[in-house]
Amino acid sequence: MAEENVPQNSESSEEPVPEIMESIMCELCGQDNYLVVYKGALKPEEGGSKVEETYKSSGNKPSEDTIVKCNNCGLVYVNPRLKSEEIVEGYSEGSDENFVSQVKGRESTFLTGIKFIEQFAKPGRILDIGTASGSFLYVAKKRGWQVYGVEPNKWLCGWAQKNYGLYIQPGTIDSLNYPNGFFDVITLWDVLEHVPNPTQVLQRCHSLLKPEGFVYVNYPDYNSYASRIMKGRWIFLLSVHLCYFTRETIAKMLEKTGFQTLNYRTHWQTLKLGYLVCRMRPYSMLLYKLGNFFVNILRLKNFPFKYQLGQTGVIARKK
Ligand SMILES: [Zn+2]
Repeated sequence: MAEENVPQNSESSEEPVPEIMESIMCELCGQDNYLVVYKGALKPEEGGSKVEETYKSSGNKPSEDTIVKCNNCGLVYVNPRLKSEEIVEGYSEGSDENFVSQVKGRESTFLTGIKFIEQFAKPGRILDIGTASGSFLYVAKKRGWQVYGVEPNKWLCGWAQKNYGLYIQPGTIDSLNYPNGFFDVITLWDVLEHVPNPTQVLQRCHSLLKPEGFVYVNYPDYNSYASRIMKGRWIFLLSVHLCYFTRETIAKMLEKTGFQTLNYRTHWQTLKLGYLVCRMRPYSMLLYKLGNFFVNILRLKNFPFKYQLGQTGVIARKK
């Protein structure tokens, strides 16, 4: 992807926005004044192609969208983007065997996550938004939490029921019917950067939380070393991501929605080496082939590999 720094606003944009896409205002401050940081290669006629393939949990298609940075508040976001209805629709269907092949690694990753949360909150009712296969709730339940989850992908909900015996409600945060003030903690693991309306999602979390309840958000940090070094090839510049937060912009959004930011953590993820090598494929065929060769020779396909490429967690308290 070409890196550009061209000031632009929607009035001066010459290319027509295809019908399936929409131009949007900055989600954080509401202004329409931005700098293009990456000029996308997405052709208008490709706007709607393979929505189902793109919007799944392990969706690893490198971003082809135009990514902009708000001149006012610094939020980095995709603009223009696919219309919201198309995005949610894309997540709800399709199966994702690739994603669930990594459950063991995810369970060990989530164990360190729940331990971090427990430094702030005692086990109580916990709601996980965008639960995916339920690995986080499975780990939390074993540590004494009463667990609740919601996930748009019906296939993943079924997987959690079958393999963990967990009921995960199919849908999004908007489909939940719990009373206000019901939960002690709400978690969003790698979810907020996918949703078309992160402010609204955090506002809804705020209502569902008890007074002084906690929200935990895990997200790929745009200002991390990995992002700054890898630039346009940063592994989290994905077509499924609509917003790229930094510590500063996530804190502003949490503040705006009624939370006080307490602490951040660097999130180390564990995945099987073979899976990581496969995910290199869209970036470098050479690295993928070399990696695959050695992983096969050394029989390291299932070797648990810990890595950090900018994933960050933030915990905040309801004010
Ligand atoms: Zn802004």
